[in-house]
Amino acid sequence: MQRPGFLDVLAAQPERAGVYTDFDGTLAPIVDNPYEARALPGSADTLGALADRYARVGVISGRPVRYLLDNIAAPGVDLWGEYGLERVVDGEIRAAEGAEEWRRVVEDVATRADDAGVAERVERKSLSVTLHWRAEPEREAAVHKWAESEATRTGLEALAARKAVELRPPLRRDKGTALGEAAAGLAAVCFLGDDRGDLAAFDALDRFAEGGVNVTRIGVRSPEMPEELGSRADIVVDGPEGALELLQSLLP
Ligand SMILES: [Mg+2]
Repeated sequence: MQRPGFLDVLAAQPERAGVYTDFDGTLAPIVDNPYEARALPGSADTLGALADRYARVGVISGRPVRYLLDNIAAPGVDLWGEYGLERVVDGEIRAAEGAEEWRRVVEDVATRADDAGVAERVERKSLSVTLHWRAEPEREAAVHKWAESEATRTGLEALAARKAVELRPPLRRDKGTALGEAAAGLAAVCFLGDDRGDLAAFDALDRFAEGGVNVTRIGVRSPEMPEELGSRADIVVDGPEGALELLQSLLP
């Protein structure tokens, strides 16, 4: 792939530029069982090569950071998990400030979700729990209702995710706050995402742009890509294959 012109400014100053990406639907094709999601072959090597060349490279995902460590880790690549609730610093997993005290509440809600049997699948993350209805869409309304009542009971936050609802500590962490911290001080930043949760990262890019930073919003097309993501993107590429080609186009 020839490098899209939008990225020329970023590619021309790698020592002051950051390359950030989502994981599911962006590096890894979407699959029904979230634990079977794998990045396309060559993705980790590509991110590692980018980290050799660019000031900062990172993956910002809704996944537990442990999953990212096992599936996409490469030297020099920053990993942010659970929408910024945790990240890897010097090889160690660290929780965002204030998150740790919610761990037991989250575990308790996950157990109650298992007992209630309302979701198709209860996914225990490190500091949040996801209630999936992907393969059983008739459960959607009941899952949302149950999550809302648990949020009211516990103080956790209920957030709509991809064919799922997440219950998470009410810390106002999202991909935008994560990207805002991760990419602070850079002269050029791009982010690749495919879903609603990535709009917050686009918001962070908008804020960077107001401050004079060169930004590129990259949408990754899938049948489920929200219209808003496509309309706000500077470039849209086709699926994880297109995303990987675009990342590779940033290398010499
Ligand atoms: Mg995604």
